[in-house]
Amino acid sequence: MARIDVNHIRHSYLPNPKKDSDFALKEVHHNFEDGGAYALLGPSGCGKTTLLNIISGLLHPSHGQLLFNGRNVTNLSTQERNIAQVFQFPVIYDTMTVYDNLAFPLRNRRVQEADVDRKVRETLDMIDLASWAKKKARGLTADQKQKISLGRGLVRSDVNAILFDEPLTVIDPHMKWVLRSQLKQLHRRFGYTMVYVTHDQTEALTFADRVVVMYDGEIVQIGTPAELFERPRHTFVGYFIGSPGMNVLPVALEGRTAMLGSQRIELPGAPKAEAGAVELGIRPEYVRLGRDGMAVKISKVEDVGRHKVVRANLEGREIAAVIGEDDEVPAEPKVRFDPAGINIYADSWRVEMGA
Ligand code: ADP
Ligand code: MG
Repeated sequence: MARIDVNHIRHSYLPNPKKDSDFALKEVHHNFEDGGAYALLGPSGCGKTTLLNIISGLLHPSHGQLLFNGRNVTNLSTQERNIAQVFQFPVIYDTMTVYDNLAFPLRNRRVQEADVDRKVRETLDMIDLASWAKKKARGLTADQKQKISLGRGLVRSDVNAILFDEPLTVIDPHMKWVLRSQLKQLHRRFGYTMVYVTHDQTEALTFADRVVVMYDGEIVQIGTPAELFERPRHTFVGYFIGSPGMNVLPVALEGRTAMLGSQRIELPGAPKAEAGAVELGIRPEYVRLGRDGMAVKISKVEDVGRHKVVRANLEGREIAAVIGEDDEVPAEPKVRFDPAGINIYADSWRVEMGA
């Protein structure tokens, strides 16, 4: 497997790109370590597939370089890059058996037939497809076909990386859980370099050691699931990860105090930002609903199983709070913010808190 360096890549689908918004990838720079399990997470249209296709060679970037183990591969073809890629929809040969579908990428690379047999059987076992080996692919359901696509991606252990582009979209929800944990186990066992594209935070957080969050053609944060949750670098990350997402409230900063309308909020430190307009970011888990603090008007209480989500109006803004399943909303509800969960953002980017 390989370390993959994405060096200052920009990409536009237009013939004469001029402004920043003409670029699907604005300036992407990241090193994928050899043997890492990465998720590329972001909303639809943020550039995930574009980046994945640039790594595999299906697309050539407008600017920048791609290195595999330090070697420049920017101008090499897909074949020469030796990458396995699994797409959103099954890419298999309907007329072949399941076995031959998996054998194909190996035979194509002139692997000895004895090794082909060993690898195919191993892979079929890994994803519980051994009993289908002799079946023709044609008669299978869409999610069974997608499992074969996954098998075709996993069968070649000599590749530089295995790339997955929203591979579980057509798989039914229960099977999704099973396959995701199998992919994770495969990663642990074989140390593959894996890049897994998804717009689903649960999928990203359960699969990856490192999550790369993309927004509008850029990487906005790279971190462990815990880092993304606790210290979002950008308000988008706070909002996109977590359910419900982080509350973002416009405030006026004055030293260690944030003014939210007429409310004074004492901060746990002095943010390293100019006095003036900034944003306060607080996850709903850090909003305390009780009898002390700032008065709010409750608009909605949603019981989501293990806890309740309360939507309330604070100084003309909607905020969300999470309370325990058995907690009741007080008659004259007020909120306070737990200092441990207070973040400050200037122009959407996180500002560090000084002493
Ligand atoms: P994602 O996979 O995150 O949904 P994509 O990489 O597919 O995002 O798309 C990023 C941006 O590039 C979007 O604005 C999309 O409309 C545009 N785009 C993607 N593919 C093409 C294409 N073949 N031609 C023109 N624009 C494209
Ligand atoms: Mg995509």
